Amino acid sequence: MTQFSDKILTWYTRHARQLPWRGHPDPYAVWVSEIMLQQTRVEAVIPYYERWMDRFPSVHALAAASEQDVLLLWEGLGYYSRARNLYKAARIVVDQYGGELPRDLAPLRKLPGIGRYTVGAIASIAFGLDVATLDGNLRRVFARVFNVAVPADAPAGEKILWALAERHLPKGQAGDYNQALMDLGATICLPRRPTCLLCPLRGLCKARALGLQEQRPVLKPKAEVPHYTVTAAVLQRDGKILLAKRPSKGLLGGMWEFPGGKVEKGESLEACLAREIREELDAGIRVGEPFGVYRHTYTHFRITLHAFRCELIDGEPKPLEAAELTWVLPAELGDYPMGKVDRLIAERLQ
Ligand code: SF4
Repeated sequence: MTQFSDKILTWYTRHARQLPWRGHPDPYAVWVSEIMLQQTRVEAVIPYYERWMDRFPSVHALAAASEQDVLLLWEGLGYYSRARNLYKAARIVVDQYGGELPRDLAPLRKLPGIGRYTVGAIASIAFGLDVATLDGNLRRVFARVFNVAVPADAPAGEKILWALAERHLPKGQAGDYNQALMDLGATICLPRRPTCLLCPLRGLCKARALGLQEQRPVLKPKAEVPHYTVTAAVLQRDGKILLAKRPSKGLLGGMWEFPGGKVEKGESLEACLAREIREELDAGIRVGEPFGVYRHTYTHFRITLHAFRCELIDGEPKPLEAAELTWVLPAELGDYPMGKVDRLIAERLQ
């Protein structure tokens, strides 16, 4: 036990957050919560976690679901590959491991969506193994306490931070140690304006002693986020609306959308939409009234989407680029998982 781990564990005995997945002996619950918590704040995760555990209380229940149901329940939480991977991994766990998450690190790490961070969290919290982990909160705490000036999101910085997490890991208490650091990072050692006066590590914290806490962790400069103008068609026929399912890999994979695409240089919105529908569905449309303008920021780009009411004038739409097409009554749009912008369009149609 180092001074660092002693202080953080003592603090945790009094300040651990009460979270719905804490104190839960079920590795499945720990696994679901850790996947949901990736890139997402605890407050946003809690209602999703509770709905999820009601609907899929076990790995068997999840494996028996359809991907559409899984994505629908995840809708709004973002980073949908997490849901797709969790679902794939649940099926593997049921088929190959009799429904029990493997306790050994190597097979655990091979499951879809489980990287080094998640292995550490599951192994330490659910199985009580002496394994370190490093999420954004832990990374920030270590970079500050040990004043790591190498970029934390570069391989060299990551190596230093993982080594620190491992060096201070107290034998037999890895689960509490990891969760204590997650809690400290989420409640005290905040990205901006950490409340150092309340921090159990303030006496050890090198960045604080140098007044550098807000400059740690150092991160690589971010590339500028590009902006795209895109169009989408609200194509109606016999009271039904056309939806396209995105291919299962990539951004919003497996989610449904109103078909359309990116405007090219010098192209009008209407010309773009007619071209996209011709290319993607092999059909001709008349672009009608504007339906709405929607803005959204994804991780690596921003979009402004212009939706138009459209009418089919030739050809029967075919899924040339989409995984599937379907005509849906407005009242049924809620049964189809969608990204944020498409959901806003769907809600207006309902
Ligand atoms: S003293 Fe401040 S900067 Fe250092 S670990 Fe604590 S909260 Fe973070």
